[in-house]
Amino acid sequence: MKEYYKAIADFHKKFEMKGTNNEEMTFRLNLMTEELGELAQAVTKGKGKKAIVEENIDLLNLIIGNFVSLEISSEEIKKAFWEKHKKLMSREKKLVNGKNFRISEFK
Ligand SMILES: [Mg+2]
Repeated sequence: MKEYYKAIADFHKKFEMKGTNNEEMTFRLNLMTEELGELAQAVTKGKGKKAIVEENIDLLNLIIGNFVSLEISSEEIKKAFWEKHKKLMSREKKLVNGKNFRISEFK
């Protein structure tokens, strides 16, 4: 994570994003929506694994960029990741609507 975080922090620095729309969350949400649409097209139009990997990397870069923009350190991300992972690992898996498996708390 640290390696990716530094790479994206360097990207933000190179393009002087601090204090601009590039680090505003509403703008970033629009970018993520755009990239999610590109991923959806790659999947639904059968563009292949290479395109699917690229669109996922675009989303990953934006997500890491969100942390950089919000000044959340890689150590804080690591802590939050493992807290969430622990929760996820305690969940149940169930078949819903007779065809899709879901992993949730099922309250
Ligand atoms: Mg893309």
